[in-house]
Amino acid sequence: MKLNRRWRSLKGGLSLKTGGSISPAADGTRPRYKELRFYRAFAISIAITLGLSLAAIFIGIAVQGHSLIREELLARARAHFNFILITRKWNSNYGGVFVLKTEGVESNPFLENPDLSTNDGRVLTNRTPEIMTREISRTAESAGGVKFHLTSLNPLNPENLPDEWEARALRLFESGVLETFDDYREGKKLFYRYMAPLRVEKSCLICHAKQGYRAGDIRGGISIGFEFGSTQEKLTHNIISISIAALLTGFLLFGMITIYVLRLKRQLDKAGRQLQIMARTDILTGLWNRGHLLERFSEEFLRARRQARPLGCLVLDLDHFKSVNDRFGHPAGDRVLRQVGAILAAEVRKYDIVGRIGGEEFLIVVTEAPLVSLVDLAERIRVAVEKGIRIEEAPEGFTMTVSIGVADMSAADANIDAIIKRADDALYRAKKEGRNRVIGSWTP
Ligand code: GH3
Ligand code: MG
Ligand code: MG
Repeated sequence: MKLNRRWRSLKGGLSLKTGGSISPAADGTRPRYKELRFYRAFAISIAITLGLSLAAIFIGIAVQGHSLIREELLARARAHFNFILITRKWNSNYGGVFVLKTEGVESNPFLENPDLSTNDGRVLTNRTPEIMTREISRTAESAGGVKFHLTSLNPLNPENLPDEWEARALRLFESGVLETFDDYREGKKLFYRYMAPLRVEKSCLICHAKQGYRAGDIRGGISIGFEFGSTQEKLTHNIISISIAALLTGFLLFGMITIYVLRLKRQLDKAGRQLQIMARTDILTGLWNRGHLLERFSEEFLRARRQARPLGCLVLDLDHFKSVNDRFGHPAGDRVLRQVGAILAAEVRKYDIVGRIGGEEFLIVVTEAPLVSLVDLAERIRVAVEKGIRIEEAPEGFTMTVSIGVADMSAADANIDAIIKRADDALYRAKKEGRNRVIGSWTP
């Protein structure tokens, strides 16, 4: 029982599921569901990562823009303050500056001798740094620019009394603070205000010594105010533009990543399908391999049993194939196997299952056909092989033959092993009776 032993060894590596547990739906749904969950989780994590990174970049840019504007406003206010300080210094260095007292020019009521008369009869009046600052402030304000306010907690001129914010700032300066700044809203307009202390210099003491000041004391302060709404608007526009750009970039990146991932997924699916086909295919002949063949046979067995339909198989073994290898070489033997594979594929119907189960042995599972058709098919194949195989290296008249054992399903069969065993036994008899023949398992 040489062939039967071989069959057992061929089947040894494969555990056959004949209990009907192989179902494409049950096999496919779970992984597909898992796959969908994986891609959804992937898309969500990409969206979250992108969203968070873009939000971080966007917030960073907005915060930086905001602090840049603040720095710019502070620098602008300081420049105004320093400019007025320099102007005042210039004035106080002269102990006040005399200007022509024309119509509308008032004398300083806080000075003992504010006016001078020239030899030619003109009147000049003293402009102290305080008055000069106030007048410049008025001029600047009427020109729609910067407001200056010279103020002190203890002013000579009650017009120089501080407002609430200025009074708080002046008290802070006395406790060592060097400058204060803030912004405030008046109606729809946004203003920036800045204040720094004015220190008493020697030149100031000409007028202010009687108030008890000494050089270096804080005499008061100058507050600077200007509108900065347009800068704020620009910042807001900037933030809106950056947000739109960030959103568009986010969508674009997400779209691109999704497209690439889907493309990758398609390629992976394709590679997976190819791998699945390769795992079931016999590489040499392109027919099904042993594993898939037996699996399909078991499925067909269950179906045929359930539906009480005929089912059978052909087991084929090339005759003296070893001598083909020995005489003409292994590549020639391979070519023969490929030719046999092509003949088998051409002879069977498309719903029959053909494969190579080992070396030079083939199995054909035939569904929906009575026994007599199986024998006819086997005989057609036998003749086709005998006539159709060509070996270039072989001498004229050389023929390749095949022996075929045929069996069909019987009511007592518990699984495909029983059918294969009967076909195998028939094949053994065909070999024993001289090869190149078809023997059915029922043949006495
Ligand atoms: P029999 O008529 O009794 O079947 O004799 P046989 O020579 O065909 O059988 P045997 O089992 O003695 O030898 C089978 C040979 O098939 C041995 C092995 O070298 C050859 N063979 C198995 N697989 C392949 C293959 O893939 N390619 C080639 N070229 N030869 C193979
Ligand atoms: Mg063999
Ligand atoms: Mg053989």
